[in-house]
Amino acid sequence: MKSKAILNQMTPYKPGKQIEEVKREYGLDKIVKLASNENPFGFSQQVKQQLPELIAQLEKYPDGYAATLREKVASFLNVKEEQLIFGNGSDEVVQIICRAFLEPGANTVMARPTFPQYRHNALIEGAEVREVPVVEGHHDLKEMLQQVDENTRVIWLCTPNNPTGVHISKSVLHDFMEKCPSHVLVVIDEAYYEYMVTEDTFDSIQALQQYENLMVLRTFSKAYGLAGLRVGYGVANRNVIHSLEPAREPFNTSSIAQAAAIIALNDQSFIEETTSENRRNKRDLLAFLDENNLNYYESEANFVLIHLPMSGDEMFEHLLSKGFIVRSGEALGIPNSIRLTIGSKEDMVLLQQAMKQKLEDHVK
Ligand code: PMP
Repeated sequence: MKSKAILNQMTPYKPGKQIEEVKREYGLDKIVKLASNENPFGFSQQVKQQLPELIAQLEKYPDGYAATLREKVASFLNVKEEQLIFGNGSDEVVQIICRAFLEPGANTVMARPTFPQYRHNALIEGAEVREVPVVEGHHDLKEMLQQVDENTRVIWLCTPNNPTGVHISKSVLHDFMEKCPSHVLVVIDEAYYEYMVTEDTFDSIQALQQYENLMVLRTFSKAYGLAGLRVGYGVANRNVIHSLEPAREPFNTSSIAQAAAIIALNDQSFIEETTSENRRNKRDLLAFLDENNLNYYESEANFVLIHLPMSGDEMFEHLLSKGFIVRSGEALGIPNSIRLTIGSKEDMVLLQQAMKQKLEDHVK
């Protein structure tokens, strides 16, 4: 048997530690997972209440075109229905873009570190990956443009960037779009869009009217709290979607996921309440970090990348023993840091105590 040669050099995606696994290993009753940027407040109660109705007709295939969800999202964003593509999470939309646009001889440009699935899927398609190191957590858009040539098919911009949390400011992104050659598809991944508070943000949906080569990714996994159902989407001009559609599996979003996403989208008060609670808890965390002289990147997302006077692995292990799962910076390509998802107020108080203990032991 012979698989694609590149696969021998690759490893499967390594998710953060799972709750049950940590409970067993450390003999703990309660574990708080702050490793995958999930919504600590769950998901809309309206989805929960209507769930029994959503399980009707499971013997039937879902609507592969997701027509009702499509109509809903199109009117929510004020775009045309044919400008949308849905995926089994935005993960799958990333995969579809790579399947459709990348091949041996083509190249793709992205930041480092950024969301790893861009690189992963591009490599599987045999494309050359050109990674441009972030500067203080920011995309280096000037250098990214320098990397573009006639074989560049896709540029990935993640804003706010995972794992740094830093967003790309409006004027910088606008300037980039003006300079980027039109043969390159620019994918702006806005998985954390709902958490952003800054006014200095590029209106990517509006910009679709101006730029034929732009695509925006959003998801129901983060602020909407539906990570377990797997539904995300891409928005672009009709021609881009037309090129992507043949690379999409026929029934790639489940009927439950489609129905739940519609209800979740209708419950904007859940988004408002939980993102404002998140903002308050983030503000308290940043105050704690300032008091303890810890540096961090300015985050517009629901997580913060914190620089530490020790290895990220060391802090990660300590927090794990106290029942908190975070992401070690070593695993994310930023040594001596951790990435922490903002949790509930009570959990964040306990987490800060655990962090403080480790910091004090370190000084001793
Ligand atoms: N993009 C970014 C930047 C992410 O952080 C994530 C989730 N980790 C995704 C895309 C994929 O999210 P999902 O597949 O759940 O929509």
